[in-house]
Amino acid sequence: MSENDSRKQRDLKHVWHPCSQMKDHEWLPLIPIKSGKGVWLEDFDGNKYLDAISSWWVNIFGHANPFINERIRAQLEQLEHVILAGFTHEPVIQLSERLAAITPPGLSRCFYADNGSSAIEVALKMSYHYWKNRGYTKKTKFITLSNSYHGETLGALAVGDVALYKETYAPLLMQAITVPSPDCFAREPGATWQQHSEQMFARMRETLEQHAEEVCAVFVEPLVQCAGGMRMYDPIYLKLLRAACDEFNVHLIADEIAVGFGRTGTLFACEQAGISPDIMCLSKGLTGGYLPLSVAVSTEDIYQAFYDDYAKLTAFLHSHSYTGNPLACSAALATLDLFERDDVIANNRVTAATMADAVADLQDHPHVAEIRQTGMILAIEMIKDKKTRAAYPWQERRGLKVYQHGLQQGVLLRPLGNVVYFMPPYVINHDEIRLMARVASDGIHLATRE
Ligand SMILES: *Cc1c(COP(=O)(O)O)cnc(C)c1O
Repeated sequence: MSENDSRKQRDLKHVWHPCSQMKDHEWLPLIPIKSGKGVWLEDFDGNKYLDAISSWWVNIFGHANPFINERIRAQLEQLEHVILAGFTHEPVIQLSERLAAITPPGLSRCFYADNGSSAIEVALKMSYHYWKNRGYTKKTKFITLSNSYHGETLGALAVGDVALYKETYAPLLMQAITVPSPDCFAREPGATWQQHSEQMFARMRETLEQHAEEVCAVFVEPLVQCAGGMRMYDPIYLKLLRAACDEFNVHLIADEIAVGFGRTGTLFACEQAGISPDIMCLSKGLTGGYLPLSVAVSTEDIYQAFYDDYAKLTAFLHSHSYTGNPLACSAALATLDLFERDDVIANNRVTAATMADAVADLQDHPHVAEIRQTGMILAIEMIKDKKTRAAYPWQERRGLKVYQHGLQQGVLLRPLGNVVYFMPPYVINHDEIRLMARVASDGIHLATRE
């Protein structure tokens, strides 16, 4: 047995992989990765894979980025970790100052956790607790959009709406109020994204009118519902939502865990609507994809609702062991430096246009329902019947065929059901985009052949 085969065997003996039916690995090979460089991952047999999904949407400046490596190394020599209650350190102070400066106006207080789901839990508890501290004891519920995704812990799962992940655990979950998503894939023929998004807002307004008294906050993924199949909508929805949340005295919580840090074409997706949420949740790209870190950034008003004499027991007594880890914060600071140094947002506009151009031919494919794009996220939705809009049954696992084809051809694509998408590190070059597009295109041809 080769060393690599034995490595796979050892893995399968003890590692329980995330989001996986482990039995699939009886026929679907696991891929041990030896090293990474830029957009490329390399396995132990010397095969290379272009990381078209940024290793689950976290990596933005490439693997083993020398600049980020150096900054983490320097921090490592200084301080690896320290408790953040009662203590502080330079990286967390600097990061908080910079997040307050670059997030939309009004957001100024940074509460850290170590993954996206935990940041959502923080936002849930913080919003509820805010209203409680302010004397609004009836506010105990949350509004969410259909097809939304906010993570896997029970609170985050409860305000999400992807049945595949949620249904099994339904008896364990608090009840959220679910409003139909402005997802523009569902728009009438001829309608623009803006028209559809605006029209869908009527349902949100009705729900707020009806339930505002018992609602703490509305959760949204600004502009793109990523895990829900890269479904997209127009900024007008966020604009209307911000105004309605103010009108009805409800928080707006923006989950920018996936879309933050330049993914949608602006540093934060909320910028495209010109709005500030009451709480913004960030993770994934925050550390350039290096280390687990997340943050819920809130307004001064929210912060002040907790600020009082100890005996009043109004403090936010939430914590995680690794809150504000200095290594993770230094990776985040390096990431923010790269944004400033390299004019990333402007360069991404060119990269995004190149991605669109590279797959334009697929538009007329008989089994491609649509190609949609928001900034550095491009999605191609495969469909069984373009006329009736009948979807492929999930049991056929057509996306998995694209995945397998991609691996054979050296591109890591990981379709969500029937949706093939590109969400590459921003350092991808034009040749790499061409390769990624050709392999995806061939994969789609193969997967939809019969
Ligand atoms: C990934 C994701 C989360 C959860 O983050 P984890 O770090 O995986 O817990 C929450 N919301 C959105 C929009 C995400 O994409």
